[in-house]
Amino acid sequence: MNKLALFGGTPVRETAIPWTSTMGEEEKAAVVKVMESGNLSVFLGRAGEQFLGGPRIKEIEEMFAGKFGAKHSISVNSATTALHTALAACEVGPGDEVLVTPYTMSATASAILMNNAVPVFVDICPETYNLNPKEIGKWLTPRTKAIMVTNLFGLPGNLPEIIKIAKQHGLYVIEDNAQSPGATIVGKQAGTFGDLGIFSLNYHKVIHSGEGGIILTDSDKLAYRCQLIRNHGEVIVDDLNDDDTVVLGSNYRMTELHAAIGIEQLNKLDGFLIKRRALADQLSRGLKRFSGLEGVTVPEGYEHSYYVYPIQFNQDIWTIKRAVFAAAMKAEGFPLGEGYVRPIYLMKLYQHKRVYNQTHYPFSFIGQPVQCYQKGICPVAEEMYEEKLITADVCRLPYTARDIEDFLTALEKVWQGKEELRAYEENSLPCS
Ligand SMILES: *Cc1c(COP(=O)(O)O)cnc(C)c1O
Repeated sequence: MNKLALFGGTPVRETAIPWTSTMGEEEKAAVVKVMESGNLSVFLGRAGEQFLGGPRIKEIEEMFAGKFGAKHSISVNSATTALHTALAACEVGPGDEVLVTPYTMSATASAILMNNAVPVFVDICPETYNLNPKEIGKWLTPRTKAIMVTNLFGLPGNLPEIIKIAKQHGLYVIEDNAQSPGATIVGKQAGTFGDLGIFSLNYHKVIHSGEGGIILTDSDKLAYRCQLIRNHGEVIVDDLNDDDTVVLGSNYRMTELHAAIGIEQLNKLDGFLIKRRALADQLSRGLKRFSGLEGVTVPEGYEHSYYVYPIQFNQDIWTIKRAVFAAAMKAEGFPLGEGYVRPIYLMKLYQHKRVYNQTHYPFSFIGQPVQCYQKGICPVAEEMYEEKLITADVCRLPYTARDIEDFLTALEKVWQGKEELRAYEENSLPCS
Protein backbone atom coordinates (compact mmCIF):
# COMPACT_ATOMS: atom_id res chain seq x y z
CA MET A 1 0.00 0.00 0.00
CA ASN A 2 1.00 3.60 -0.62
CA LYS A 3 2.23 5.90 2.06
CA LEU A 4 -0.58 7.54 4.04
CA ALA A 5 -1.55 11.00 2.81
CA LEU A 6 -1.26 12.19 6.42
CA PHE A 7 2.49 11.50 6.14
CA GLY A 8 2.94 12.98 2.67
CA GLY A 9 1.70 10.14 0.46
CA THR A 10 -0.72 10.55 -2.43
CA PRO A 11 -4.31 10.72 -1.17
CA VAL A 12 -6.95 8.34 -2.52
CA ARG A 13 -8.94 11.45 -3.45
CA GLU A 14 -7.08 14.66 -4.18
CA THR A 15 -10.05 16.79 -3.15
CA ALA A 16 -13.10 15.97 -1.09
CA ILE A 17 -16.24 15.63 -3.19
CA PRO A 18 -17.86 19.06 -3.15
CA TRP A 19 -21.31 19.89 -1.96
CA THR A 20 -23.67 19.86 -4.93
CA SER A 21 -27.23 21.11 -4.96
CA THR A 22 -29.98 18.76 -6.08
CA MET A 23 -31.82 21.67 -7.71
CA GLY A 24 -32.76 21.07 -11.34
CA GLU A 25 -34.71 22.61 -14.19
CA GLU A 26 -38.02 21.61 -12.58
CA GLU A 27 -37.36 23.69 -9.47
CA LYS A 28 -36.18 26.65 -11.56
CA ALA A 29 -39.29 26.56 -13.75
CA ALA A 30 -41.53 26.30 -10.69
CA VAL A 31 -39.92 29.38 -9.14
CA VAL A 32 -40.25 31.38 -12.35
CA LYS A 33 -43.93 30.51 -12.50
CA VAL A 34 -44.51 31.84 -8.99
CA MET A 35 -42.50 34.98 -9.79
CA GLU A 36 -44.62 35.57 -12.89
CA SER A 37 -47.82 35.14 -10.89
CA GLY A 38 -46.67 37.97 -8.62
CA ASN A 39 -47.95 36.14 -5.54
CA LEU A 40 -44.85 35.28 -3.52
CA SER A 41 -47.02 34.75 -0.49
CA VAL A 42 -50.79 34.76 -0.15
CA PHE A 43 -51.11 34.41 3.63
CA LEU A 44 -53.01 36.94 5.71
CA GLY A 45 -53.07 36.84 9.50
CA ARG A 46 -56.84 37.05 9.80
CA ALA A 47 -59.81 34.73 9.41
CA GLY A 48 -60.82 34.21 5.79
CA GLU A 49 -59.70 32.61 2.56
CA GLN A 50 -56.06 33.74 2.88
CA PHE A 51 -55.56 32.48 6.42
CA LEU A 52 -54.40 29.11 5.05
CA GLY A 53 -52.11 30.50 2.33
CA GLY A 54 -52.03 30.34 -1.45
CA PRO A 55 -52.12 27.69 -4.18
CA ARG A 56 -48.56 26.35 -3.78
CA ILE A 57 -48.95 26.13 -0.01
CA LYS A 58 -52.14 24.11 -0.43
CA GLU A 59 -50.50 21.93 -3.05
CA ILE A 60 -47.39 21.07 -1.04
CA GLU A 61 -49.54 20.31 2.00
CA GLU A 62 -51.80 17.99 0.02
CA MET A 63 -48.78 16.29 -1.51
CA PHE A 64 -47.07 15.66 1.83
CA ALA A 65 -50.27 14.37 3.40
CA GLY A 66 -50.90 12.09 0.42
CA LYS A 67 -47.37 10.87 -0.06
CA PHE A 68 -46.74 9.95 3.57
CA GLY A 69 -50.28 9.01 4.55
CA ALA A 70 -51.56 11.59 7.02
CA LYS A 71 -54.91 13.34 7.27
CA HIS A 72 -53.45 16.83 7.65
CA SER A 73 -50.29 18.64 6.64
CA ILE A 74 -49.27 22.12 7.78
CA SER A 75 -46.34 23.84 6.09
CA VAL A 76 -44.07 26.18 8.07
CA ASN A 77 -40.77 27.96 7.45
CA SER A 78 -38.42 25.43 9.13
CA ALA A 79 -38.36 22.17 11.03
CA THR A 80 -37.36 24.17 14.09
CA THR A 81 -40.56 26.22 13.98
CA ALA A 82 -42.42 23.00 13.13
CA LEU A 83 -41.16 21.50 16.40
CA HIS A 84 -42.16 24.60 18.34
CA THR A 85 -45.60 24.52 16.71
CA ALA A 86 -46.10 20.79 17.31
CA LEU A 87 -45.37 21.10 21.03
CA ALA A 88 -47.53 24.20 21.37
CA ALA A 89 -50.35 22.39 19.55
CA CYS A 90 -50.19 19.76 22.33
CA GLU A 91 -50.45 22.59 24.88
CA VAL A 92 -47.02 21.83 26.27
CA GLY A 93 -46.14 24.69 28.58
CA PRO A 94 -44.81 25.80 31.98
CA GLY A 95 -44.73 22.97 34.51
CA ASP A 96 -44.56 20.25 31.87
CA GLU A 97 -41.68 17.88 31.17
CA VAL A 98 -40.99 16.40 27.75
CA LEU A 99 -38.88 13.29 27.21
CA VAL A 100 -36.37 13.63 24.40
CA THR A 101 -33.21 12.00 23.11
CA PRO A 102 -29.98 13.87 23.90
CA TYR A 103 -28.51 12.69 20.60
CA THR A 104 -30.22 14.94 18.09
CA MET A 105 -29.95 18.39 16.66
CA SER A 106 -30.22 21.00 19.45
CA ALA A 107 -33.48 22.30 17.97
CA THR A 108 -35.42 19.22 19.09
CA ALA A 109 -34.82 20.06 22.74
CA SER A 110 -34.76 23.86 22.29
CA ALA A 111 -38.35 23.66 21.06
CA ILE A 112 -39.31 22.34 24.50
CA LEU A 113 -37.64 25.28 26.25
CA MET A 114 -39.25 27.68 23.80
CA ASN A 115 -42.59 26.40 25.03
CA ASN A 116 -41.42 27.01 28.61
CA ALA A 117 -41.37 23.31 29.41
CA VAL A 118 -38.40 21.26 30.62
CA PRO A 119 -36.56 18.64 28.53
CA VAL A 120 -35.78 15.32 30.22
CA PHE A 121 -33.16 13.34 28.34
CA VAL A 122 -33.59 9.62 27.69
CA ASP A 123 -30.60 7.55 26.63
CA ILE A 124 -30.30 5.91 23.22
CA CYS A 125 -29.85 2.36 21.90
CA PRO A 126 -26.23 1.63 20.97
CA GLU A 127 -27.26 -0.06 17.70
CA THR A 128 -29.76 2.47 16.34
CA TYR A 129 -28.69 5.73 18.07
CA ASN A 130 -32.40 6.37 18.70
CA LEU A 131 -34.26 6.86 21.98
CA ASN A 132 -34.32 3.61 23.95
CA PRO A 133 -37.88 2.78 25.05
CA LYS A 134 -36.50 0.73 27.98
CA GLU A 135 -35.03 3.93 29.45
CA ILE A 136 -38.32 5.86 29.44
CA GLY A 137 -39.74 4.45 32.68
CA LYS A 138 -37.11 5.87 34.99
CA TRP A 139 -37.79 9.46 33.91
CA LEU A 140 -41.59 9.51 33.96
CA THR A 141 -43.20 11.90 36.46
CA PRO A 142 -46.73 13.27 36.87
CA ARG A 143 -45.46 16.28 34.91
CA THR A 144 -44.46 14.30 31.80
CA LYS A 145 -46.60 15.52 28.91
CA ALA A 146 -44.99 14.23 25.73
CA ILE A 147 -42.19 12.16 24.19
CA MET A 148 -40.19 13.55 21.28
CA VAL A 149 -38.61 10.89 19.10
CA THR A 150 -35.94 11.87 16.61
CA ASN A 151 -35.62 9.44 13.71
CA LEU A 152 -31.86 9.90 13.54
CA PHE A 153 -29.63 9.70 10.46
CA GLY A 154 -32.50 8.27 8.36
CA LEU A 155 -33.63 5.47 10.68
CA PRO A 156 -37.01 5.53 12.46
CA GLY A 157 -36.93 5.12 16.22
CA ASN A 158 -38.66 2.20 17.92
CA LEU A 159 -41.99 3.94 17.45
CA PRO A 160 -44.31 0.95 17.98
CA GLU A 161 -42.81 0.38 21.44
CA ILE A 162 -42.64 4.08 22.35
CA ILE A 163 -46.24 4.69 21.32
CA LYS A 164 -47.36 1.73 23.43
CA ILE A 165 -45.69 3.31 26.48
CA ALA A 166 -47.08 6.75 25.61
CA LYS A 167 -50.62 5.36 25.40
CA GLN A 168 -50.27 3.70 28.81
CA HIS A 169 -49.32 7.04 30.35
CA GLY A 170 -51.47 9.40 28.28
CA LEU A 171 -48.52 11.15 26.61
CA TYR A 172 -48.28 12.80 23.24
CA VAL A 173 -45.65 11.52 20.81
CA ILE A 174 -43.98 13.97 18.45
CA GLU A 175 -41.64 12.65 15.77
CA ASP A 176 -38.72 14.77 14.65
CA ASN A 177 -38.42 13.29 11.19
CA ALA A 178 -36.17 16.03 9.76
CA GLN A 179 -33.52 13.50 8.75
CA SER A 180 -35.68 10.59 7.64
CA PRO A 181 -38.21 11.39 4.90
CA GLY A 182 -39.26 8.16 3.19
CA ALA A 183 -37.97 5.86 5.96
CA THR A 184 -40.52 3.23 6.98
CA ILE A 185 -41.41 0.59 9.55
CA VAL A 186 -43.26 -2.32 7.92
CA GLY A 187 -44.31 -0.01 5.11
CA LYS A 188 -45.65 2.77 7.35
CA GLN A 189 -43.92 6.10 6.87
CA ALA A 190 -41.72 7.65 9.54
CA GLY A 191 -43.33 10.92 10.61
CA THR A 192 -46.83 9.39 10.73
CA PHE A 193 -46.55 7.26 13.88
CA GLY A 194 -46.75 9.99 16.49
CA ASP A 195 -49.56 12.44 17.17
CA LEU A 196 -47.52 14.84 15.06
CA GLY A 197 -44.49 14.35 12.82
CA ILE A 198 -42.26 17.08 11.46
CA PHE A 199 -40.10 17.26 8.34
CA SER A 200 -37.32 19.67 7.30
CA LEU A 201 -36.76 21.29 3.92
CA ASN A 202 -33.49 22.89 5.00
CA TYR A 203 -30.83 22.80 2.28
CA HIS A 204 -28.69 20.03 3.74
CA LYS A 205 -31.53 17.55 4.22
CA VAL A 206 -32.54 14.75 1.82
CA ILE A 207 -34.98 17.03 -0.03
CA HIS A 208 -35.08 20.77 0.40
CA SER A 209 -36.31 24.19 -0.62
CA GLY A 210 -33.46 26.14 0.99
CA GLU A 211 -35.48 26.45 4.20
CA GLY A 212 -38.84 25.01 5.15
CA GLY A 213 -40.73 22.61 7.37
CA ILE A 214 -43.83 20.42 7.30
CA ILE A 215 -46.00 19.05 10.09
CA LEU A 216 -48.17 15.95 9.63
CA THR A 217 -51.02 14.87 11.90
CA ASP A 218 -54.20 12.81 11.74
CA SER A 219 -55.87 14.92 14.43
CA ASP A 220 -58.29 17.64 13.33
CA LYS A 221 -57.79 19.51 16.59
CA LEU A 222 -53.98 19.43 16.48
CA ALA A 223 -54.01 20.47 12.81
CA TYR A 224 -56.25 23.45 13.61
CA ARG A 225 -53.95 24.46 16.45
CA CYS A 226 -50.90 24.21 14.19
CA GLN A 227 -52.59 26.43 11.61
CA LEU A 228 -53.34 28.98 14.33
CA ILE A 229 -49.82 28.95 15.73
CA ARG A 230 -48.31 29.36 12.26
CA ASN A 231 -50.31 32.48 11.52
CA HIS A 232 -51.11 34.78 14.47
CA GLY A 233 -53.75 32.50 15.96
CA GLU A 234 -54.62 34.86 18.81
CA VAL A 235 -56.24 37.18 16.24
CA ILE A 236 -58.03 34.38 14.43
CA VAL A 237 -59.70 32.91 17.51
CA ASP A 238 -61.10 36.39 18.21
CA ASP A 239 -62.29 36.70 14.59
CA LEU A 240 -63.93 33.29 14.81
CA ASN A 241 -65.41 33.85 18.28
CA ASP A 242 -63.60 30.67 19.28
CA ASP A 243 -63.65 31.07 23.06
CA ASP A 244 -62.42 27.53 23.72
CA THR A 245 -58.98 27.82 22.18
CA VAL A 246 -56.05 29.32 24.05
CA VAL A 247 -53.22 30.01 21.66
CA LEU A 248 -50.24 32.28 21.05
CA GLY A 249 -49.43 32.49 17.37
CA SER A 250 -46.43 33.64 15.39
CA ASN A 251 -45.42 34.04 11.78
CA TYR A 252 -44.08 30.65 10.71
CA ARG A 253 -45.50 30.88 7.20
CA MET A 254 -43.80 29.32 4.20
CA THR A 255 -43.62 31.39 1.00
CA GLU A 256 -45.16 30.32 -2.31
CA LEU A 257 -41.62 30.19 -3.71
CA HIS A 258 -40.40 27.72 -1.12
CA ALA A 259 -43.53 25.63 -1.51
CA ALA A 260 -43.03 25.51 -5.29
CA ILE A 261 -39.46 24.24 -4.85
CA GLY A 262 -40.51 21.76 -2.17
CA ILE A 263 -43.19 20.31 -4.46
CA GLU A 264 -40.60 19.51 -7.13
CA GLN A 265 -38.20 18.08 -4.57
CA LEU A 266 -40.88 15.84 -3.10
CA ASN A 267 -41.50 14.53 -6.62
CA LYS A 268 -37.83 13.51 -6.68
CA LEU A 269 -37.65 11.95 -3.22
CA ASP A 270 -38.19 8.34 -4.30
CA GLY A 271 -35.47 8.63 -6.94
CA PHE A 272 -33.04 10.16 -4.44
CA LEU A 273 -33.75 7.38 -1.95
CA ILE A 274 -33.14 4.61 -4.50
CA LYS A 275 -29.68 6.06 -5.14
CA ARG A 276 -28.88 6.69 -1.47
CA ARG A 277 -29.93 3.16 -0.51
CA ALA A 278 -27.84 1.61 -3.28
CA LEU A 279 -24.75 3.52 -2.09
CA ALA A 280 -25.44 2.56 1.51
CA ASP A 281 -25.87 -1.14 0.63
CA GLN A 282 -22.58 -1.09 -1.22
CA LEU A 283 -20.88 0.54 1.76
CA SER A 284 -22.43 -1.93 4.23
CA ARG A 285 -21.17 -4.87 2.14
CA GLY A 286 -17.72 -3.31 1.86
CA LEU A 287 -17.44 -2.61 5.59
CA LYS A 288 -17.89 -6.31 6.40
CA ARG A 289 -14.27 -6.95 5.48
CA PHE A 290 -13.00 -4.62 8.22
CA SER A 291 -12.88 -5.52 11.86
CA GLY A 292 -13.45 -2.69 14.29
CA LEU A 293 -15.83 -0.85 11.96
CA GLU A 294 -19.49 -1.68 12.46
CA GLY A 295 -21.75 -0.49 9.66
CA VAL A 296 -25.34 0.66 10.03
CA THR A 297 -27.86 -1.56 11.85
CA VAL A 298 -31.29 -1.59 10.24
CA PRO A 299 -33.79 -3.56 12.35
CA GLU A 300 -36.05 -6.14 10.65
CA GLY A 301 -38.90 -4.43 8.84
CA TYR A 302 -37.27 -0.97 8.87
CA GLU A 303 -36.15 1.04 5.86
CA HIS A 304 -33.44 3.68 6.26
CA SER A 305 -33.22 6.89 4.24
CA TYR A 306 -29.47 7.45 4.81
CA TYR A 307 -29.25 11.14 5.57
CA VAL A 308 -25.83 10.12 6.85
CA TYR A 309 -24.25 6.70 7.20
CA PRO A 310 -23.25 5.85 10.80
CA ILE A 311 -20.22 3.66 11.54
CA GLN A 312 -19.05 2.46 14.95
CA PHE A 313 -15.33 2.65 15.45
CA ASN A 314 -13.61 0.28 17.86
CA GLN A 315 -10.42 1.91 19.09
CA ASP A 316 -9.23 -1.28 20.82
CA ILE A 317 -9.19 -3.19 17.55
CA TRP A 318 -7.69 -0.31 15.58
CA THR A 319 -5.25 0.49 18.42
CA ILE A 320 -5.59 4.21 17.58
CA LYS A 321 -7.99 6.88 18.73
CA ARG A 322 -10.93 7.92 16.59
CA ALA A 323 -9.46 11.40 16.13
CA VAL A 324 -6.29 9.96 14.57
CA PHE A 325 -8.30 7.61 12.37
CA ALA A 326 -10.46 10.55 11.21
CA ALA A 327 -7.41 12.73 10.55
CA ALA A 328 -5.92 9.97 8.37
CA MET A 329 -9.20 9.52 6.46
CA LYS A 330 -9.54 13.27 5.98
CA ALA A 331 -6.06 13.41 4.50
CA GLU A 332 -7.12 10.66 2.06
CA GLY A 333 -9.94 12.94 0.89
CA PHE A 334 -12.78 11.65 3.09
CA PRO A 335 -13.64 13.97 5.97
CA LEU A 336 -15.73 12.17 8.61
CA GLY A 337 -18.04 13.33 11.35
CA GLU A 338 -16.69 12.48 14.81
CA GLY A 339 -19.32 11.73 17.42
CA TYR A 340 -22.22 13.61 15.75
CA VAL A 341 -23.24 16.05 18.54
CA ARG A 342 -22.43 16.50 22.21
CA PRO A 343 -25.30 15.04 24.21
CA ILE A 344 -27.54 18.08 24.47
CA TYR A 345 -27.68 18.27 28.27
CA LEU A 346 -23.92 18.91 28.35
CA MET A 347 -24.42 22.19 26.50
CA LYS A 348 -23.90 25.38 28.53
CA LEU A 349 -27.57 26.23 28.19
CA TYR A 350 -28.46 23.20 30.33
CA GLN A 351 -25.43 23.21 32.59
CA HIS A 352 -26.09 26.83 33.60
CA LYS A 353 -29.86 26.54 33.27
CA ARG A 354 -30.11 30.08 31.94
CA VAL A 355 -32.63 30.38 29.14
CA TYR A 356 -34.33 33.77 29.07
CA ASN A 357 -32.53 35.95 31.61
CA GLN A 358 -30.74 35.54 34.93
CA THR A 359 -33.58 33.48 36.42
CA HIS A 360 -33.57 29.72 36.00
CA TYR A 361 -37.02 29.69 34.42
CA PRO A 362 -38.51 27.34 33.18
CA PHE A 363 -36.42 24.86 35.21
CA SER A 364 -37.20 26.77 38.43
CA PHE A 365 -40.93 26.50 37.74
CA ILE A 366 -40.77 22.71 38.14
CA GLY A 367 -39.64 22.60 41.76
CA GLN A 368 -37.92 19.24 42.19
CA PRO A 369 -36.44 18.36 38.79
CA VAL A 370 -36.28 14.70 37.80
CA GLN A 371 -32.96 15.33 36.07
CA CYS A 372 -30.01 17.65 36.79
CA TYR A 373 -28.18 17.21 33.48
CA GLN A 374 -25.03 15.90 35.13
CA LYS A 375 -22.53 13.96 33.06
CA GLY A 376 -23.31 10.25 33.06
CA ILE A 377 -27.11 10.37 32.82
CA CYS A 378 -27.09 9.02 29.25
CA PRO A 379 -23.91 6.91 29.09
CA VAL A 380 -24.60 5.36 25.67
CA ALA A 381 -25.01 8.76 23.99
CA GLU A 382 -21.86 9.98 25.76
CA GLU A 383 -19.82 6.99 24.61
CA MET A 384 -20.98 7.41 21.01
CA TYR A 385 -20.08 11.09 21.14
CA GLU A 386 -16.73 10.66 22.86
CA GLU A 387 -15.23 7.64 21.16
CA LYS A 388 -17.34 5.38 18.99
CA LEU A 389 -19.50 7.06 16.38
CA ILE A 390 -18.30 8.13 12.98
CA THR A 391 -20.62 9.60 10.39
CA ALA A 392 -19.78 9.27 6.73
CA ASP A 393 -21.49 11.66 4.38
CA VAL A 394 -20.99 9.39 1.35
CA CYS A 395 -24.55 8.34 0.55
CA ARG A 396 -25.68 11.73 -0.64
CA LEU A 397 -25.93 12.73 -4.26
CA PRO A 398 -23.96 13.04 -6.50
CA TYR A 399 -21.82 10.29 -4.92
CA THR A 400 -21.43 7.21 -7.07
CA ALA A 401 -20.40 3.57 -6.65
CA ARG A 402 -16.88 4.65 -7.58
CA ASP A 403 -16.78 7.05 -4.61
CA ILE A 404 -17.81 4.27 -2.24
CA GLU A 405 -15.03 2.09 -3.68
CA ASP A 406 -12.55 4.90 -3.07
CA PHE A 407 -13.84 5.33 0.47
CA LEU A 408 -13.26 1.62 1.11
CA THR A 409 -9.78 1.87 -0.44
CA ALA A 410 -8.99 4.74 1.91
CA LEU A 411 -10.16 2.64 4.88
CA GLU A 412 -7.94 -0.22 3.75
CA LYS A 413 -4.99 2.13 3.43
CA VAL A 414 -5.53 3.57 6.91
CA TRP A 415 -5.89 0.06 8.35
CA GLN A 416 -2.59 -0.94 6.75
CA GLY A 417 -0.94 2.19 8.13
CA LYS A 418 -2.24 1.86 11.67
CA GLU A 419 1.16 0.97 13.22
CA GLU A 420 2.57 4.21 11.90
CA LEU A 421 -0.53 6.05 13.08
CA ARG A 422 -0.13 4.61 16.56
CA ALA A 423 3.42 5.94 16.76
CA TYR A 424 2.15 9.29 15.48
CA GLU A 425 -0.60 9.28 18.12
CA GLU A 426 1.90 8.57 20.90
CA ASN A 427 4.05 11.49 19.80
CA SER A 428 1.32 13.97 19.03
CA LEU A 429 -1.13 13.25 21.83
CA PRO A 430 1.16 12.70 24.85
CA CYS A 431 -1.38 13.88 27.40
CA SER A 432 -4.47 12.02 26.26
C1 LIG B 1 -32.01 19.76 10.64
C2 LIG B 1 -32.76 19.28 11.81
C3 LIG B 1 -33.69 20.08 12.48
C4 LIG B 1 -33.93 21.51 12.13
O1 LIG B 1 -34.31 21.69 10.81
P1 LIG B 1 -34.45 23.16 10.21
O2 LIG B 1 -35.39 22.98 9.05
O3 LIG B 1 -33.09 23.58 9.77
O4 LIG B 1 -35.01 24.06 11.24
C5 LIG B 1 -34.37 19.54 13.55
N1 LIG B 1 -34.15 18.29 13.95
C6 LIG B 1 -33.26 17.48 13.35
C7 LIG B 1 -33.09 16.09 13.85
C8 LIG B 1 -32.53 17.96 12.27
O5 LIG B 1 -31.63 17.16 11.68
